[in-house]
Amino acid sequence: MRFFTLFFFLFSTFSFSQQNNLVEKIDSVAFYNKLANSSVSKNQYKNALFYTQKAINFSKENNKTIDQVIQTFKLGKLYYDVKKYDDAIKAFDKSISLSKTLEPSSLQASIHYYLGMCHMKKRDFLNAKISFDKAKSLNDSLEITNTVDLINLQRGIIYKSEGDSDTASTIFSTIIAKPDNPAILDIKVEALYHIGLMEMADNRNNLALNYFNKALDLNSKNKNIEQKSAILLALSTVYEKMLDKNNAYTYLKQHSNLEESISLLDNEKLGVDDYEKFKESERLKEVAEINKENIQQEKTSKFSKLISILAIALISILSLLSLSLYKNNIIRTQSNLLLEEKNRELILAKEKAEKASNARTEFLSTVSHELRTPLNAINGIAHLLLEEKPKKSQMNYLESLQFSGNYLTNFINDILEINKIDSSKAQVENISFNLKLLLENIQNSLKELASENNNYFSLEIDSHIPDYLIGDPTKLSQILMNLINNALKFTHNGSVTVTSKLISLEDQKAFIYFEVKDSGIGIPEDKLETVFDSFSQGSVGINRKYGGTGLGLTIVKKLVEILGGEIKLDSKVKKGSSFSFKLLLKVSKKPLKIIKNLNKNNYDNLKSKKILVVEDNKINQMVSKKMLENKGVICEIVDNGEEAIEIAKSNKLI
Ligand code: ADP
Repeated sequence: MRFFTLFFFLFSTFSFSQQNNLVEKIDSVAFYNKLANSSVSKNQYKNALFYTQKAINFSKENNKTIDQVIQTFKLGKLYYDVKKYDDAIKAFDKSISLSKTLEPSSLQASIHYYLGMCHMKKRDFLNAKISFDKAKSLNDSLEITNTVDLINLQRGIIYKSEGDSDTASTIFSTIIAKPDNPAILDIKVEALYHIGLMEMADNRNNLALNYFNKALDLNSKNKNIEQKSAILLALSTVYEKMLDKNNAYTYLKQHSNLEESISLLDNEKLGVDDYEKFKESERLKEVAEINKENIQQEKTSKFSKLISILAIALISILSLLSLSLYKNNIIRTQSNLLLEEKNRELILAKEKAEKASNARTEFLSTVSHELRTPLNAINGIAHLLLEEKPKKSQMNYLESLQFSGNYLTNFINDILEINKIDSSKAQVENISFNLKLLLENIQNSLKELASENNNYFSLEIDSHIPDYLIGDPTKLSQILMNLINNALKFTHNGSVTVTSKLISLEDQKAFIYFEVKDSGIGIPEDKLETVFDSFSQGSVGINRKYGGTGLGLTIVKKLVEILGGEIKLDSKVKKGSSFSFKLLLKVSKKPLKIIKNLNKNNYDNLKSKKILVVEDNKINQMVSKKMLENKGVICEIVDNGEEAIEIAKSNKLI
């Protein structure tokens, strides 16, 4: 029986109000809904089911949850209308589960109510009660009151079936007492019918008859034929019980005629074949969907497998990387520790080497110094003896003695010089000097050696070189003296030229080129590099013939480097050699240091001059005194500085 007009009305307003807002177009929920509604109005339930299903599919594909809930509910209602209660229950359940994410609404209450009605039809009162309670609580919370009677009626029917006649008849009586109006008509007829059944069951047949007749009377207003059929059957039964065979037969006949036409109507709505076909197509669709889902799932599982494999591979690579980093770190830490250890060892070794080097320097300077004093005595005495006209046979010995003494003195002086440079004690002076004068002095001092070997010894000085320069004239003299000495020594009957040229003059700085060139024996190609090493000489033969210590060029190289230059050598055997270097010297305006004429033989000025010699070594005292007296000098000797100051104060010497 259709007692759901009110709910249907509520639901329709809800769904239609939504649909009106939609622009109707093909393949839209509104479009399918419209087609389904028009099919219902034409009693074509097969089409209505078809379009509703399409509306569901569309809303599902487009993720329109509310539409899906409404259309699924509508599908349930269509099934309910054609009395396919199991299908209806399935649709309502689905609709309820879909609506769980939505806010509570009258729509949800309607779904629960219809679900309850399906259970009622199946006489499953337990589940029906649950559904009605749910519908009631939703309506209560939403403060919807106009469905109270509808739900109460169903609860009354349930109480009746459970044997709780009192509660049931109270509910029915309350409904019956309500004034007639179209909205409550169906409910009142139903209440009258059920209360009549209860009276009939208690054999109060006249009362029952009264209720059934009232029900039939009200039914004529709402034209609910299913309700009418049930009432006719009830009337036939009560008349039968009252042994009124005629009325019993008449009502039974009317009932069966009505049932026949209801059955025809039902069949018209949805024929058995149509229903089967529809169900089959639904089943096929479901299978297709399941297959699709399976394929999708398979794809997803393959994809997730791939992702898992990739993730595992990535994790493995990362782990390996971390492991190698960790190992690397350990190795690095170990190497660092090792390096630190080695560094410590190296620092210790360096300190030791420095100590050893200092000790060597100290030793060399002490020994050389101690050697120089007796050597000076030997040289001095040899010199004195040679001056005292010795016998011819003694002359050779004395000359050899003087040569050896001089050699040793030079050797010790060279060692001391290298020692001084190596121990970084050599300090560069920055004083003003006249380069031209310096070169001329050197030339004068070596003239004798040049003529000894019959060499043409010349100076070529660039006139553009400024008169006064600032630098270290002592070291420059040492360098040039060494180089010129070598040139004159290794050249016989040839020429030695000393050149100095101005390369550039900028910002009060003169860049000067120095060259000592000779036409002597030259240096073999394989020795060009090594001649600058300590104790390195051209060959044993050369050493024997020309003498020397093998330290001169070592000193030259080091001194040139100290002054900021670099010594260059160009030489060819039997053609001659050229030693050159460039120095950057500041230009000075006035002279500060004048290198005195180094001419050795200028002793005449010393005659009758008074000289005080301060010397602690007795032999040196004796030698110095004798040598000075030989040059006509009046000489006084004292042992130490204090005595010297005393004599100077008393002016005794003068
Ligand atoms: P030495 O005291 O032996 O001259 P040096 O260091 O001054 O030591 O020179 C090293 C060697 O270089 C010399 O023994 C010699 O063989 C070679 N040498 C130096 N200057 C010249 C030069 N001007 N001509 C030829 N050989 C030279």
